[in-house]
Amino acid sequence: MAHLRFEALKKLSERSRVHVDLPNPNVAKFFGENVYGMEQMRATLAPALFKKVSQAIKNHEKIDETTADAVASAAKAWAVAKGASHFTHWFQPMTGGTAEKHDSFFDALAGIEKFKGSELVQQEPDASSFPSGGIRSTFEARGYTAWDPTSPMFVYGATLCIPTVFVSYTGETLDTKAPLLKALKAVDLAATKVCQLFDKDIQHVVASLGAEQEYFAVDKALFDARPDLVMAGRSVFGHPPARGQQMEDHYFGSIPSRIYTFMKDFEIECWKLGIPVRTRHNEVAPSQFEVAPLFEEVNVANDHNQLMMDVMSRVADRHDLRILFHEKPFAGINGSGKHNNWSLITDTGVNLYAPTSSARDNLMFLTFFVTTVKAVHAHADLLRASIATAGNDFRLGANEAPPAIMSTFIGSQMSAVLDELEKNGNVKIEKGDNMYMKLGIDQIPEIILDATDRNRTSPFAFTGNKFEFRAVGSSDNCAVAMTALNTIVAEQLDQFFAAVNKEIEKGEEKRLAIVNVLRQYIKESKAIRFEGDGYSDEWVKEAAKRGLSNVQNTPRALDAYLSKSSLALFEKHGVMSHRETEARVEIRLENYMKRVQIEARVIGDLAMNHIVPTAIAYQTKLIENANGLKGLGVDNTAVVQTIKEISGHIDTIKNNVRAMIEERKRINKETDAHKRAIGYCDDIKEKYFETIREAVDKLELLVDNEDWPLVKYRELLFLR
Ligand code: ADP
Ligand code: MG
Repeated sequence: MAHLRFEALKKLSERSRVHVDLPNPNVAKFFGENVYGMEQMRATLAPALFKKVSQAIKNHEKIDETTADAVASAAKAWAVAKGASHFTHWFQPMTGGTAEKHDSFFDALAGIEKFKGSELVQQEPDASSFPSGGIRSTFEARGYTAWDPTSPMFVYGATLCIPTVFVSYTGETLDTKAPLLKALKAVDLAATKVCQLFDKDIQHVVASLGAEQEYFAVDKALFDARPDLVMAGRSVFGHPPARGQQMEDHYFGSIPSRIYTFMKDFEIECWKLGIPVRTRHNEVAPSQFEVAPLFEEVNVANDHNQLMMDVMSRVADRHDLRILFHEKPFAGINGSGKHNNWSLITDTGVNLYAPTSSARDNLMFLTFFVTTVKAVHAHADLLRASIATAGNDFRLGANEAPPAIMSTFIGSQMSAVLDELEKNGNVKIEKGDNMYMKLGIDQIPEIILDATDRNRTSPFAFTGNKFEFRAVGSSDNCAVAMTALNTIVAEQLDQFFAAVNKEIEKGEEKRLAIVNVLRQYIKESKAIRFEGDGYSDEWVKEAAKRGLSNVQNTPRALDAYLSKSSLALFEKHGVMSHRETEARVEIRLENYMKRVQIEARVIGDLAMNHIVPTAIAYQTKLIENANGLKGLGVDNTAVVQTIKEISGHIDTIKNNVRAMIEERKRINKETDAHKRAIGYCDDIKEKYFETIREAVDKLELLVDNEDWPLVKYRELLFLR
């Protein structure tokens, strides 16, 4: 086995560099060249048809069959000219990632190339193996995919990809996109209603998302020589290297040249696909990096994020690299997140989370700001649940990751504004050369907003003109978190609107009615605001005192979806029916259980088949040595001591792996998904993973480096 490790290291040392050139120094010349977007539609459709389609897209209306036919044939012609031979409905099942079913444009029977509107609009993938949480089995075994015209089609490889939703035959949603679209509609409705209290011209509110993607990049040969990385996406063993991230030099350091070339390459591919990637830099941990796009409308931004992850993995292959999207691939150093920068923007171009110098807009800003904080307070458990995955459990609350306690950081100035507003129904006046905020009530107060106020330890931070949901995991589909966030904000805005109207009915002047409700919200949601160090132990105690939850693991976090209020919330806003919510929880429990199960198996296999035999072989050498020393009359106490230590660790490993297997057998008999997931969490993961790992990692330090079978952390993280 050790030879695999050394072969991998040899391959790494022999790597030749890939050369990457920009197709054109002017990125605008090729940006989006593989996207069938608005521009391409305008260019390829008859004007009347284009108008119909663009209107339907803007107003989220159905597109009739004749129009769809025209779009299909224009899209096909465009795609074929780009070299496409197939088309596929591209969708996002609840397994994570994306799914495709490719069909040829060429219909062998008809002998002509065809692509009808009906094929664009609807497809029946043979998808009975996609998870459905029991929904499909009770109704109908088939599901179908339906075109989402709000996200543009694109050519990827030789395939025209059509973004679609995935629903069961009876109409229940089976993917992450459909509920997201519904949540976005809900927040549009609620936010527009509230906006019209201030500005009647506002007809729509669009939620925007900029998802900063963190990842690790490691050499392909080294990755492939680690069965745990291959099977589970994270290393289950590995002693921390002598040098970890304590030097803090990686974050500010220059990007290693091999990675830089890879980044350049995948950025080019992203640009061709219209994905607006913009910034790239090193992250805190060695071999960890980040890519951030320009923000876009949430649905499109999320499609782009999903596609980008795929592009990254494919392009990495060309550079003999593997990309790790797991939330915690290496113990002892930072994990990876996907910060979801989010805001609401009106169709008149106003970012509702950006303070301005206009009095009217600032009361509107405060309304959205306070309402969002209130929503986070009221539905903290749901937000926590929305980001719960087996991978993220390793990250939340761990080294340099936001805690599992939901709270919001708003910065000293916004804190001062809210405190003042709560106490005096007013805002403190502070002048400076930054931004002003005027409320337009009473003395027309102003404040300065300094966007440099940052707190990297908050799971949900206000960053000047947007909120940043930082607790989302790096491998997650943002749709899940975005569905929860947009729905709870929609609900709170609804409640706000009703409360303001009630005040007005009582005879209160509109602006004062708004301020009254805001003051009440500020008072009620104070517990969720936290400006201190979210990574500290004090915060854990303080949060408990405030009555905030700190749910440590996925199976328990997911319960929040099943509370009466959550079920009602999703149903009320048309996002998910009770059954859909319940089905989703079941799928996620099942998914959690499977993940932990795979890891448990990998741990068992690696420990018993790789580590223990290696340790025994080495121990045998030591025994020979000890006997030899003894024969020569030389003191062999040190060697004998090592032999005993090795025995101790081997015993620990064997006993725990055996016990873990027995425990799994017991839990597997459990039929209830929730109980099974809890069993895997408490009685497998929590009970055995660390104990086994500790013994293996100790052996790594004892056994001759030449014999050790697993690629070591220092090799994975520092060699490129
Ligand atoms: P920061 O300094 O907070 O990292 P950046 O301007 O670099 O700010 O933005 C980080 C991410 O947030 C980017 O993906 C960016 O597009 C996104 N972003 C910026 N403004 C908004 C907004 N109004 N809504 C959603 N995302 C935004
Ligand atoms: Mg960030």
